[in-house]
Amino acid sequence: MAETLFSRIIRREIPAQIVHEDEHVVGFRDINPQAPTHVLFVPRQAIATLNDLVAADAELIGRLVLAATAYAKSQQLADDGYRLVMNCNRHGGQTVFHLHLHLLGGRAMEWPPG
Ligand code: 5GP
Repeated sequence: MAETLFSRIIRREIPAQIVHEDEHVVGFRDINPQAPTHVLFVPRQAIATLNDLVAADAELIGRLVLAATAYAKSQQLADDGYRLVMNCNRHGGQTVFHLHLHLLGGRAMEWPPG
């Protein structure tokens, strides 16, 4: 797949506020935060969209979720709660085609989302 902005952030070619890093997942602050805490959890492996996931990626998706929930707990967001979001393609509002999980917290969210 085409090189993405997020691959360049992962390689530290573009600056970002990285808050989590492990063998499989990198987490960094969104440049345009929509909540007091807005972090993107991104697999090092570049996968374009949710549509591109295969069975072999099941563990990786679990790792993304666990990285986000661990970070939420570390930021004392667990009790009040937070939102995890993955946008897919045009109707989902996806703008960067490197799979990522948004962690939004620190304020009450509305439902349904816009
Ligand atoms: P999407 O709309 O694809 O679900 O989310 C992409 C997110 O990436 C957006 O929330 C946007 O603000 C964020 N973003 C876009 N460019 C950059 C950047 O250069 N650095 C960081 N840290 N976030 C970015």
